[in-house]
Amino acid sequence: MLYKNLNIWNGVGEDIFFGDIFVDKDIFGIGRSKQSSSKDFSGCFAIPGLIDSHIHLCLDPYERNPLKQEVDEEKLKAAMISRAELIVKAGITTVRDLGGGKHLELLVRDLIKEKKLTGPRLICAGQPITSRGGHCHFWGGEAESIEEAIKVMNRQAMAAVDLIKIMVTGGSMTPKSKPINSQFDLDFLTKVVGEAKKLNYPVAAHCHGSDGILKAAEAGVSTIEHCSWVGESGWGRGFDMKTATLISKKEIWVSPTVNSGWKRYLESNYLEILRNNFKKMKEVGVRFIASTDAGIPNIFHTDLPLAMPVFSEIAGLTNTETLRAATSDAARAIGLSGVTGSIESGCSADFVIYDENPLADLNVLKAPKLVVVRGQEVSVD
Ligand SMILES: [Zn+2]
Repeated sequence: MLYKNLNIWNGVGEDIFFGDIFVDKDIFGIGRSKQSSSKDFSGCFAIPGLIDSHIHLCLDPYERNPLKQEVDEEKLKAAMISRAELIVKAGITTVRDLGGGKHLELLVRDLIKEKKLTGPRLICAGQPITSRGGHCHFWGGEAESIEEAIKVMNRQAMAAVDLIKIMVTGGSMTPKSKPINSQFDLDFLTKVVGEAKKLNYPVAAHCHGSDGILKAAEAGVSTIEHCSWVGESGWGRGFDMKTATLISKKEIWVSPTVNSGWKRYLESNYLEILRNNFKKMKEVGVRFIASTDAGIPNIFHTDLPLAMPVFSEIAGLTNTETLRAATSDAARAIGLSGVTGSIESGCSADFVIYDENPLADLNVLKAPKLVVVRGQEVSVD
């Protein structure tokens, strides 16, 4: 199939090129074949499909209490399947699922891969490692010793996850868990990263407190989720330059889960603290990827396009930098470089067409005209 006369941003550079996109089965092809049918998109814009690097497919955003989430497996699976379809219709063609309790997201991942369902490419962590009674313990990944953590990891490997997630600090979602507190010490975290490496898995680390952020960086995780710099005097108030420098030096990606709900900070006193932290992290070369933590209360699985303008404003990123954080940079960060995240021959044909230029205005992302995932067109209405 040939998509003609497009203004194309390939996900990597600064410029927009005028031309055609040729899709050969499920990848971007080179040139065009005479037989290929074509569609004209004069005046429209194409960019790589968006990547949300932190979601929870199993969580119902309407349910505030994590302990009251759907337990019936058939009902839950049906809900997750319909969420997957909505995700891709929103122009999000890849998501990284950072935790659930029943491994149903792996089932959905495989059904999508087999083209039995419409949905995004899924990268799944399964049950996150957490402390006894710790953050999201109800997902079944409790471990107090490294031996127990290895058991949790082996169980995830048996279920064929794509990476390991660990709750380095407490979180807001779990009763009795405090975001500032570290759940594990450096020795434990270093061993987890080492054991994960043996299984060929990168590690995504949930970190709110500054102490946990430092430990995760020292242990050498691949991505730091949230990175909220919670200190003794509150959220964002525990920023530490040495830790930020270490994150940069170790080339760890920060996935700050700035979703559209963060709009509430744009007119609060917290904004200056947030902006300052991002500014300082940028100064020492920390790199960011776009993520929303979709599934948490009131954050829908289709949130990323709505979150992008907010992320840009809070993190002080240009529109192009913000889009890279949700395309080529995200692909690099989550191990999908050369697979998706850019419009180039050989990559999976994941792209979105818009009526207007999203690089000029990120709000354009809210209204995709056509989504193509693995070469398959998805209707957006
Ligand atoms: Zn999360």
